[in-house]
Amino acid sequence: MIEENVKKLLEEIKENPFGEKVTLVAAVKTQTVEDINRAISAGITDIGDNHVQEFRDKYDGITGNPNRHFIGHLQTNKVKYLIGRTYLYQSVDRYELAEEISKRSERANVTSDCLIQINIGNEETKGGFEYDEGLEAYEKIRAMPALKVKGLMAMLPISDDEALLRDLAKKMRALYEKLRGKDGDIRYLSMGMSGDWKLCMECGSNMVRLGTSIFGPRHYNT
Ligand SMILES: *Cc1c(COP(=O)(O)O)cnc(C)c1O
Repeated sequence: MIEENVKKLLEEIKENPFGEKVTLVAAVKTQTVEDINRAISAGITDIGDNHVQEFRDKYDGITGNPNRHFIGHLQTNKVKYLIGRTYLYQSVDRYELAEEISKRSERANVTSDCLIQINIGNEETKGGFEYDEGLEAYEKIRAMPALKVKGLMAMLPISDDEALLRDLAKKMRALYEKLRGKDGDIRYLSMGMSGDWKLCMECGSNMVRLGTSIFGPRHYNT
């Protein structure tokens, strides 16, 4: 099942209408090492974790050397466990976190790549900078010594209003293009989950994070 899902998704997720390659990141929260490795054997090159404990527990069991993304809310006191092992910190949602990643990276003599998370739906339950703060957040975080900003990450709200979702996704693309116009390192707009990735890709996302459509429904009780 996982193999079929991955193969089908990789067929569908290749290029966005802007002619950019789209990266499929498997969102692996709650999944077993066996299932994650199955997805990797089927062609997954990038995986994204939400919880530091899960990331650490599974780290050595993962085969195939995928790029490891961190996509969930990250407490500053746990950053130390990720340094040097994370390909892309996607969920940089506040300055305090950016400073901690930069400080720890500097100490470890590495540069860490990150995305700035934007709370595009202005939702209280979600982290991220406000849309209008995006440019300023980029300028400030870019100036931190051991961090490199590679783009933006966002989660659209849950809504049936497709016109609204398209508007928000296009706003994200507009901000992404503004940054890219200033900075050649900017190249990821990470936006799109199982329920909305098609819409996001059409509007210019070039990185989607999928869990359910690869692994099926999550089981949280084990
Ligand atoms: C869980 C998660 C996803 C994937 O969600 P699905 O709806 O299962 O595809 C994507 N991004 C983040 C940040 C997540 O936490």
